Amino acid sequence: MEIQHFEFLKHLVRFNRHVYLDHNATTPVSDGVRRKMSQVLSSHYGNPSSFYGMGRRSAEIVEQARKHVADAMHAHPHEIYFTGCATESNNAVLKSLSAHFFPKKKKIISTPIEHPSVINTLEYLETQGLIVEYCAVDRQGRVLLAELEKQIDEETFLLCCMAANNETGVIQDIAAITEIAHRHDVLVLSDCVQALGKIPIDVHEWGVDYASFSAHKLYGPKGIGALYVKQGSPFTPLLHGGHQENGLRAGTESLHNIAGFGAACQEVEKHLADAKRIRAMKSQLVQQLKEIRPDCVINSPEADAECLPNTLSITFPGVENAGLMGMLDYRGVAVSAGSACSTGEDKPSHVLKAIGLSDQAARETIRISLGHGTSERDIRYVTGVVRDYIEGRTPYVDMITPAQLNETILFDEKTYILDVRPDDDRRKHKGLPNSHEVPSFFGENYLDQLPRDKRILVVCPGGGLSFMISYYLKAKGFQRVSNLRGGLDSWRKRRGDLYQKYAGQNSIVLQPGK
Ligand code: PLP
Repeated sequence: MEIQHFEFLKHLVRFNRHVYLDHNATTPVSDGVRRKMSQVLSSHYGNPSSFYGMGRRSAEIVEQARKHVADAMHAHPHEIYFTGCATESNNAVLKSLSAHFFPKKKKIISTPIEHPSVINTLEYLETQGLIVEYCAVDRQGRVLLAELEKQIDEETFLLCCMAANNETGVIQDIAAITEIAHRHDVLVLSDCVQALGKIPIDVHEWGVDYASFSAHKLYGPKGIGALYVKQGSPFTPLLHGGHQENGLRAGTESLHNIAGFGAACQEVEKHLADAKRIRAMKSQLVQQLKEIRPDCVINSPEADAECLPNTLSITFPGVENAGLMGMLDYRGVAVSAGSACSTGEDKPSHVLKAIGLSDQAARETIRISLGHGTSERDIRYVTGVVRDYIEGRTPYVDMITPAQLNETILFDEKTYILDVRPDDDRRKHKGLPNSHEVPSFFGENYLDQLPRDKRILVVCPGGGLSFMISYYLKAKGFQRVSNLRGGLDSWRKRRGDLYQKYAGQNSIVLQPGK
């Protein structure tokens, strides 16, 4: 990278703040977890299945971790299986039980606010002949228990309901839901990914038959999940191969990740003890945001017992979330619009729609999720950035949606398309027609070549980097700058017809000036 390229990076870091408020997407690895993982990585490389001493020591590490994971949710260690992630855990239960019961029983009932790892798996199972029904939820996303019970029939074999929602933080009464299901001889899977470490979990007391977990939401490593299978519940493996995990999940164990998950679970009590402080900061945040915009709408339940302590979903009427999130990102604050797995889809959140928000309101909603590293100073900083943005004290970057980007704009002489995609994306996909390609981290030596009398439309793969560059251009005195929301990825999905017809036409690679 040439020295001038650092100019843009320097511009970005000048705010010198980094405030991470997206803990429901993932969490930083805790010191205790990091220490445990490094120790395992440096000293224990034996295969846990090997019969000699090194292998046996590795196997002990796996069993120790299994005990810590089981303790964190009040399960027996022999009811815990390690998986690659919670997505795998959810897939494994849904597919295994479908194979077990179909065609004798065909129906699964779930909630419309589940994570994509459940919803998309259910959609797949429907293509295989299963019947999936979604139960009614109220404006807060709570399952309507009486309605749910009416939906259960002779065909139903599984009820799938998350313990806590990743977007709004709504907590379900899993014990009551399980009681209803069991009365009708129906099994229960609960996705407990967001609940672990935020609220107390007791799988035995709740009575669930299956529950899924993920280490990276709990200050543990990415790429390791767990599945609780109540003793005696039907289950067949998703992966076939070796005899690992008691024959239920083949593949050599990811020892350092498993050890890291165990260490993260050892810290669960500490996390639960911090919940009060986190909840108080969330209340402070809500109060400050309400002062900025008294008409804002809180989508998360306000009663403590009904919402995760760290999660806030908030709608600012008339304020597009893409613009606000772009400004927050520019000022070093990470928040999100919904599930990280839906990023780039440019679709309003299915969770927000299920609790009654319009498409527009969903596009005016952000999710802020606090964590153990969050401080009151962070909260003040974030509200300051939101205030500046909403009260119009920050430069205005115009937003173009993928649906709006039509032939008129693409071929408009007064629009200059600036393509800032990284090289690997350019190798995979052609860009917009008439685009001017510059390196993602271009510097001042390109600025002289950009027209000051045209609107500059900045395009990147997902709409995030282009936002940063849009603000950079505004700071450099360019008057009319627009950003393509959701980036080229969203436009390709939304306007496949135009992409097929025009992609890559008349694109120019700009050379750096002196
Ligand atoms: N379930 C919920 C509620 C989640 O929030 C997530 C992650 O965002 C998952 C499942 C998937 O977890 P993983 O990333 O381990 O596959």
